[in-house]
Amino acid sequence: MDFSIPKDTQLMLDLIQEFMEKEVYPLEQNFLNEPPEVFQPRLDALREKVKQMGLWGPAQPKEYGGMELPLTDFALVSEILGTSPLGHYVFGTQAPDAGNIEILHKYGTPEQKERWLRPLVEGKIRSCFSMTEVEMPGSNPVYMETTAVKDGGDYVINGQKWYTTAADGAAFAIVMAVTNPDAPPYQRASMIIVPTDTPGFDLVRNINIMGHKGGGYFSHAEILYHSCRVPQSNLLGPEGAGFRIAQERLGPGRIHHTMRWLGVARRALDLMVSYAARRPIAPGQVLADKEIIQAWIAESAAEIQAARALTLQTAWRIEHLGWKETRQEISMIKFLVANTMQKVVDRALQVHGGLGMTDDTILAYFYRHERAARIYDGADEVHKVSLAKRILRPYREQMEAGRNRLR
Ligand SMILES: Cc1cc2nc3c(=O)[nH]c(=O)nc-3n(C[C@H](O)[C@H](O)[C@H](O)COP(=O)(O)OP(=O)(O)OC[C@H]3O[C@@H](n4cnc5c(N)ncnc54)[C@H](O)[C@@H]3O)c2cc1C
Repeated sequence: MDFSIPKDTQLMLDLIQEFMEKEVYPLEQNFLNEPPEVFQPRLDALREKVKQMGLWGPAQPKEYGGMELPLTDFALVSEILGTSPLGHYVFGTQAPDAGNIEILHKYGTPEQKERWLRPLVEGKIRSCFSMTEVEMPGSNPVYMETTAVKDGGDYVINGQKWYTTAADGAAFAIVMAVTNPDAPPYQRASMIIVPTDTPGFDLVRNINIMGHKGGGYFSHAEILYHSCRVPQSNLLGPEGAGFRIAQERLGPGRIHHTMRWLGVARRALDLMVSYAARRPIAPGQVLADKEIIQAWIAESAAEIQAARALTLQTAWRIEHLGWKETRQEISMIKFLVANTMQKVVDRALQVHGGLGMTDDTILAYFYRHERAARIYDGADEVHKVSLAKRILRPYREQMEAGRNRLR
């Protein structure tokens, strides 16, 4: 495993880091204080600059105008972009569009690609992914109520979804719905493209998240699909393949998330250290002179480095051995990195005292919004249970064969 960074890649990373510091971080106060309609043009202007620099769409397919970086390179980019809540969006590689682009690229028909994929990669439209339901457990998605029933040449979709991130202003949703109720559980659901202006696509509300409704890209919606009719040609991939497609993009998607979270942790550590080094606590003394603060700094740095090493190793394994051979690590990094990030953000906020609770730094935003990391992309507990089962399996088999005795 070679983790050394080629010179060209390092130059690109340095360029992106510089852009983040000069152009993106200074916009965060506008992001936190301005209404979305005032703020959006500022973001759009930055996106244009990124395009002119040739850094648009680092993970997106080349044939549609992206850079199509290998997974390990994109992981390093994602870490830098993750240091600001605006980073991925400004570089045209934000969730859930990035995942939807992968799905459309692999499974879209030529017509679907021309109508949806091309403008999506170009940043002309946005999309959302609509799977989780209000009344059913997202942790057990095969247990789903939304249906898509064939009628003539159409599907008629009925169901109540929520947490459809970035639905507000999106051009289309990729909806998971049961099309084959009598098939085995993992072959019951399909992914279907639903344009958001289809009658019966009702955006009920943007959900309040920790006191913030959000708007536009930065929002999470509840959506009622009410006799929502779309042509059968909007099906993505084969009918009943919804979970298989979702599974395939699980590995790369996990790397995108965890490297972004590591970016959040790195920024929080940076803010913690720089504040501790300058905040006076007594005449001639700053916070960083206190041993308890030094311990937080040391623990945070070590924990970030350990989580980062495992994440990069996981990206390397996915790239070279495939996701099936990397299942354990893909589960491990989900909860390990989410928890590392939260510990570091919490310590950084604590070091900032009252200032940490305000929106004068980005820490309170991270604290509010990144709490969700332990819930989405599979709740931590689900990953722990499945990892433990894999680890236990050979011991259980030995036990059954009478070879694992207590004495
Ligand atoms: C900010 C945010 C953005 C999101 N974006 C999207 C999106 O764009 N599209 C989309 O479709 N969904 C999205 N989601 C939804 C997300 O995928 C679900 O919230 C998640 O899968 C958990 O499902 P649930 O909320 O229904 O919790 P439930 O499944 O009801 O689980 C509740 C809790 O029970 C525990 N639990 C669950 N299963 C087990 C188990 N087997 N063993 C032990 N404990 C268990 C866990 O602690 C879990 O948090 C988003 C969620 C958040 C918070």
